[in-house]
Amino acid sequence: MPEADGDWPLPDFDRHGRDVLDTIHDYFAGIRQTPVAGPHDRRQLVDRLLTGIPEHGQEFDGILADTRDKIIPELLHWNHPRFHGYFPTCASLPGVLAETMTAALNVNAMLWRTSPAASALETVVLRWLAELCGYPPDADGLLLAGASPATLYALAAAREESYAAAGHDVRTHGLNAPGLPVGRVYTSDQAHSSVDKAALTLGIGLANVVRVPSDAHYRMRPEALEEALTRDIAAGARPLAVVATVGTTSTGAADPLRAVAAVCRRHGVWLHVDAAYGGFYPLAPSLAGRLEDVAVGDSLVVNPQKTLFVPLDSTALYCRRPGALANTFRLVPEYLAPAHGLGPGEEGDFMDLSPQLGRGFRALKLWWVIRSFGRRGLAARLEKAVRLAEDLRRRVREHPDWRCVADSVYPLLCLRYEPAPPGGAGGTAEDRARLDRLNAAVLEAVNASGEAFVSHSVIREGYVIRVSIGNIRTTEEDVAALWRLLTETGERERGAMAPVVRAG
Ligand SMILES: *Cc1c(COP(=O)(O)O)cnc(C)c1O
Repeated sequence: MPEADGDWPLPDFDRHGRDVLDTIHDYFAGIRQTPVAGPHDRRQLVDRLLTGIPEHGQEFDGILADTRDKIIPELLHWNHPRFHGYFPTCASLPGVLAETMTAALNVNAMLWRTSPAASALETVVLRWLAELCGYPPDADGLLLAGASPATLYALAAAREESYAAAGHDVRTHGLNAPGLPVGRVYTSDQAHSSVDKAALTLGIGLANVVRVPSDAHYRMRPEALEEALTRDIAAGARPLAVVATVGTTSTGAADPLRAVAAVCRRHGVWLHVDAAYGGFYPLAPSLAGRLEDVAVGDSLVVNPQKTLFVPLDSTALYCRRPGALANTFRLVPEYLAPAHGLGPGEEGDFMDLSPQLGRGFRALKLWWVIRSFGRRGLAARLEKAVRLAEDLRRRVREHPDWRCVADSVYPLLCLRYEPAPPGGAGGTAEDRARLDRLNAAVLEAVNASGEAFVSHSVIREGYVIRVSIGNIRTTEEDVAALWRLLTETGERERGAMAPVVRAG
């Protein structure tokens, strides 16, 4: 029998499509009863999934059943209402459907003429997102796969501009021009590792990422930035950019943008604002007016995939210096050039703004999610996260043995269990190390329970359990359950450690 050589017949698609929707339905209907994480063994998982390449096409029922039985139970469930690790990257249902539609249309949004309505819609949602986070809506911008590439591209544009101002054409000569001064990037000691990764990708080098000290609240100290810039400029280095963070990864701190921007202006240095996490929280009514103004940035990255209930991947990069991204990345080979030259109003292909050529239709899911919930609906959901985090902060403050350290305005808590001895709190480095181990043990046990998932960081106060709130499905009961789990696990782990303490 010869193999079939076409796509599924549409009636098969209809039948399987209904089965897929049913599976998605069951996944969301049962998610609260599902363990957030399990004890996943990497080797076993790969061994179990590693079969030979199927020689002949298989029945879809079997493929879907394997997905249901072998894949879904072995996932860490980012959509789970008690997933509190990292950042609350969760998919809303309109976003889930939009991803399906996007895959069906399979448009390549590289050029205006390869994707007319997709490019137009990207322009529209970029305006909406800019308005939601308070950036000039007419800034250049594009949708990307993550904040990391966004910061990489912003720093490439900043590098181009900075060296151009000193008479060096990096676009043509790269970093090989004779006499090119050493370029440096400035960011706080709390900035995300994507800044370092950009520096190593761009040939700036990790040694030229200057980590400006942060203050007691983990915010960049503008006077320390001023000192570093003054010192380096006097020594002949070339500041390429400053990266400020609104919502740091460890603690949710926000750098004082106005003061940082003033320092940047004084030295003519590009300011890139990384608001991947914090960017949309100005929407929450209780935070309005209490947050940093991201509009002072020459460029800005925000992550709808983190806080706007849009499925991965969905990041927006903006640049208010007109043409800076295109000056860095525009390069049109003959096979992509328009047959008859550009007509009026035809400039502005998204391929001109980054190194990426082929690019998906990311705008549709943003359009569906923003339209489905509306500005007020998004605001209400962000406000709920802020309120749930406030509830948890209050519970923590009322407990004698738990501390909420490095307070943030965002729904991100850094918790530390510091029970009185034995097990215990104390001033010595050894005592603190013991508390670090206790908190790490609490985190491990909480995550092993499958009841909730949290992640950690190590800050000046020591090892902290990070609780990030913001999943669209999280309720008051979920947060209360998390708190019960944390406190009960804390007492149990403390009991388990106590003999060691007494012996020591
Ligand atoms: C999450 C985050 C990043 C990295 O985002 P990706 O989209 O995963 O690349 C960078 N900076 C900050 C402040 C973040 O919160």
